[in-house]
Amino acid sequence: MTDTNPPVLEIRDLHKSYGALEVLKGVSLTARRGDVVSLIGSSGSGKSTLLRCANLLEDSQQGDIIFEDEPVTWRGQGPHRQPADRAQVIRIRTNLSMVFQQFNLWAHMTILQNVMEAPVTVLKEQRDAVETRARELLAKVGIGDKADVFPAQLSGGQQQRAAIARALAMQPRALLFDEPTSALDPELEQEVVRVIKALAEEGRTMMLVTHDMRLAADVSDHVVFLHQGLIEEEGPPDRLFGSPKSERLRQFLSATA
Ligand code: ADP
Ligand code: MG
Repeated sequence: MTDTNPPVLEIRDLHKSYGALEVLKGVSLTARRGDVVSLIGSSGSGKSTLLRCANLLEDSQQGDIIFEDEPVTWRGQGPHRQPADRAQVIRIRTNLSMVFQQFNLWAHMTILQNVMEAPVTVLKEQRDAVETRARELLAKVGIGDKADVFPAQLSGGQQQRAAIARALAMQPRALLFDEPTSALDPELEQEVVRVIKALAEEGRTMMLVTHDMRLAADVSDHVVFLHQGLIEEEGPPDRLFGSPKSERLRQFLSATA
């Protein structure tokens, strides 16, 4: 991580509740261009909520979200707060492209159609250009021969790689991964890990929620440990994993080892 790179995404003092349940209690973090920021923490600590708030899939009640120096504009306050500018929401969501634990491919579309769908319908790009890019991306993630099959005909690892190709097809400024390997058998996990590592080496900006501490240690510039909706500790992976300061982080790491 270099502090001179411009921030792609900044989150400042973000608060998010579901009804009476306060899930994020004031979280701040920055992902600069080329950074890989990993989020670790126990189940229920708010990792998925943070990613979903960041790309405006979920509303938040307080705090700022700033995408490439452009703060999200809100109307209303607290529980009534909502993004005010629909075009901005779409711009941010397409630029912070998300990869989900359960792949979320469209079952009734071929793999190629899955990858082409959003660039054609949301970004209104020309179909031919999108198809060329989609085929290149499928080849890049190692499933160039699967363009014309349906998701159900692929293994979990192949489906997740298709989902990564689909996210890349939007030409996003950053990728957000939410436990991308958690639904996979161990032998299929590695094929997805390899793709994520290759993207990190290309200098992609990424935020990665993962239970895989080795992956977090290998790819991250910065690791954030969330505990009950607050950042308990953060730092470069060597320091965080090598000499954790917080007792909670130590407990968490020994439980996941
Ligand atoms: P993590 O990804 O770290 O496991 P989540 O962000 O999914 O944690 O969840 C944080 C807390 O928010 C949990 O207590 C969870 O039950 C709650 N939560 C998540 N999504 C919802 C929702 N849509 N409605 C109500 N509570 C939710
Ligand atoms: Mg989660």
